[in-house]
Amino acid sequence: MAGLPYDDRDGYIWMDGVFTPWREAKVHVLTHALHYASSVFEGERAYGGVIYASRRHSERLANSAKIMGFELPVSVDELEAIKAEALAKSGLENAYVRAFAWRGSEMMGVSAQSNTIHLAVAVWAWGDYFADKMKGIRMTHAQWKRPSPESAPSHAKAAGLYMICTLSKHAAENAGYADALMLDYRGHVAEATGANIFFIRDGALHTPTPDCFLNGITRQTAMKLAEARQIEVVERTIMPDELGTFSECFITGSAAEITPVAEIGEFTYKPSHISEALVTDYADLVHRRIPMPA
Ligand code: PMP
Repeated sequence: MAGLPYDDRDGYIWMDGVFTPWREAKVHVLTHALHYASSVFEGERAYGGVIYASRRHSERLANSAKIMGFELPVSVDELEAIKAEALAKSGLENAYVRAFAWRGSEMMGVSAQSNTIHLAVAVWAWGDYFADKMKGIRMTHAQWKRPSPESAPSHAKAAGLYMICTLSKHAAENAGYADALMLDYRGHVAEATGANIFFIRDGALHTPTPDCFLNGITRQTAMKLAEARQIEVVERTIMPDELGTFSECFITGSAAEITPVAEIGEFTYKPSHISEALVTDYADLVHRRIPMPA
């Protein structure tokens, strides 16, 4: 269910160098990004007033921009300072942070060589990404496939890549599910619509090799946390006909954090001690109750 609309809230959004009153942080309708998806973004969470893995998110935003053929108008160090200031100005300790950059309005066609690059950072309160998180979410199969890295720049967190994610997520929600499992162009298991995926069998974690989708920051964290617990982590090709052989499943993402999965279509999973331990470790890590494992 929708809460307050995102264009009608109190507070400020940092936009092109200025903390702009929330409702006034607007773009013109003839903005290249709106027509041609020439935008890149980050989704991050702050815990107790500190953004988890902030620098890695800033670096990824700069890299996504580079992959899309443009430079951010600020350095990674400057972006770090802007995000910290935006978080402080929001007055929120626990919050979602959205940093994003896009091509403006000077040219309005496929070519946008001389368009100004804009940058904004917005911070808002956002609870769990999924309502019944610890119960395990219900997922279905997506009809859209992650494209080959020869067909799309899969390692950029770029707006255009989310078209098939929204289509898949809507289809899942319309059928009564929380999310969808996307396969890739080869038919291998890939990821959820906004999160990476892990499976557990005989005490070991199995996760698809991220060769055509984001190697998520939360994914990399979950792998380190598992290794710190001496849990074997196997990164490999996973075929859909293996889905029935796993006992536990969870997805990872900055917004989703570590969310157990109870069901993918005809297959059921029971979140058990490994999923629960990693959910707890992740919470302890982001709240700085335990250090990042080496
Ligand atoms: N895949 C997709 C499609 C995503 O949108 C996200 C969220 N950014 C992820 C994976 C997970 O990435 P991260 O853990 O870095 O948030």
